[in-house]
Amino acid sequence: MGRSALAVRLASLLAFGLVLVFVEASLGDVDPRYRTCVRECQATGIVGENVISHCQSKENYTSVGVSWYNQEQIYIQWKELNCRTDCRYFCMMQREGERQSLGLSPVKYHGKWPFLRVSVFQEPLSTALSAVNLLMHFTGWLSFFLLVNYKLPLRPQTKRTYYEYTSLWHIYAILSMNAWFWSSIFHTRDIELTEKLDYSSAVALLGYSLILSLLRAFNVKDEASRVMFAAPILAFVTTHILYLNFYELDYGWNMKVCVVMAAVQLLTWAVWAGVSRHPSRLKLWTVVFGGALVMLLELYDFPPYMGFADAHSLWHASTIPLTYLWWSFIKDDAKFRTSTLSKKAK
Ligand SMILES: [Zn+2]
Repeated sequence: MGRSALAVRLASLLAFGLVLVFVEASLGDVDPRYRTCVRECQATGIVGENVISHCQSKENYTSVGVSWYNQEQIYIQWKELNCRTDCRYFCMMQREGERQSLGLSPVKYHGKWPFLRVSVFQEPLSTALSAVNLLMHFTGWLSFFLLVNYKLPLRPQTKRTYYEYTSLWHIYAILSMNAWFWSSIFHTRDIELTEKLDYSSAVALLGYSLILSLLRAFNVKDEASRVMFAAPILAFVTTHILYLNFYELDYGWNMKVCVVMAAVQLLTWAVWAGVSRHPSRLKLWTVVFGGALVMLLELYDFPPYMGFADAHSLWHASTIPLTYLWWSFIKDDAKFRTSTLSKKAK
């Protein structure tokens, strides 16, 4: 192929890609056969051998309830939502079966790969792995809690921990568990509400961990300076969350915000570990470089293996050992600070 021909091809591919992004469609759902299938399914409730009960009995309900707060009305909306989700799923599976028999590779539908459902779970592997991540944070937090409160010495006068960042890590644990909780809900059922809750929780966690990394790296200990450090980031993150929820869920912009917040904190930790010659810097570097490395999985997006394991789910798997190591570093830091401070106190 000549250079100009290649350029034209690339340009048209790029233009096509931009169009797809612009209308938020994927290759799978622009296929007219898929569209016809969904339309017919929503009208009849039948796709091949599958009967979707949510799509039938519709006419029985349309006459009742006019107020938005009417229970019947909510019930109808719920049925319609389920009808659409089920129709999209079964039509996708039908199309993918046809494509496979023609030797074609899988394509995305409405921005997602064709995943096999398990019971109510839309993306069973990502759901399960999110739950495991939540559990890892819980056990990490629990052992941190037991360490600082029961194993390490407390300040003689106040009976509080020597470690100055105890309460900040408690908040971190709660925000982490919250983010993984909504992640597993979102992977179970992808609707507007669960998507917003997942995105908001993730942004809140990222913003908070950025603040925490700066407070730890710059050894900010008194309340007034902590507020000064936190306020601008907190204000920005709050505005960003409100923007996503009530103005526009702009994926591109949100991605930029998250990448910048993640990059700044990873850099902060990495540099601080070296400069401060922290005794557990190897652990910290492993988490930072490991975390940056597995982010590549998000960029290298491949279709689900056996209908389950896609790049995103592998990314969720990779954060499990990293989380274990991360809490181990936090506990090391608590031990290190406590031994320095309690020696000074004597
Ligand atoms: Zn996820």
